[in-house]
Amino acid sequence: MMKFASYDIVFQEVPGEVTLAVNITGCPNRCPGCHSPHLWADDGIELDKQALTGLLADYGRGVTCVALMGGDATPGEVYELAQWIKQQGYKSAWYSGRDKLPGDCPTGRFDYIKVGPYIEHLGGLKSPTTNQRMYHVAADGTLEDITYKLQTHR
Ligand code: SF4
Repeated sequence: MMKFASYDIVFQEVPGEVTLAVNITGCPNRCPGCHSPHLWADDGIELDKQALTGLLADYGRGVTCVALMGGDATPGEVYELAQWIKQQGYKSAWYSGRDKLPGDCPTGRFDYIKVGPYIEHLGGLKSPTTNQRMYHVAADGTLEDITYKLQTHR
């Protein structure tokens, strides 16, 4: 069962979108220098369609995108929620901490996908040396690297 610890409205994590970002717990990645070690424990509030409906009701249509931040321990649940998010008329984003996507990832259920663990000396997505990649998913499911849109020093 996927759970979340917190959520926020963010403007920079997904380029051009007003995003409801949901911070999923139970992260299995254990990146050295992790910026969010409180997300390692498998606790929090159950994250399902009902919970997301409640969060979205607070913001109405001011939100354009829902980002699932984490969920690498239960990718099947991420895929299911992403499909539901798109069916509700929102764009869907996934922030994975894995090096690459699972082979069976249905990329077409997402509009944006970020991959890559956090490596402290390389920095996060805003760093020009980052190992992490942000992709826009085209209609045919192919991935376009848009990491440059997040970087402050180009
Ligand atoms: S993926 Fe994110 S939350 Fe998980 S260990 Fe790495 S930096 Fe921490």
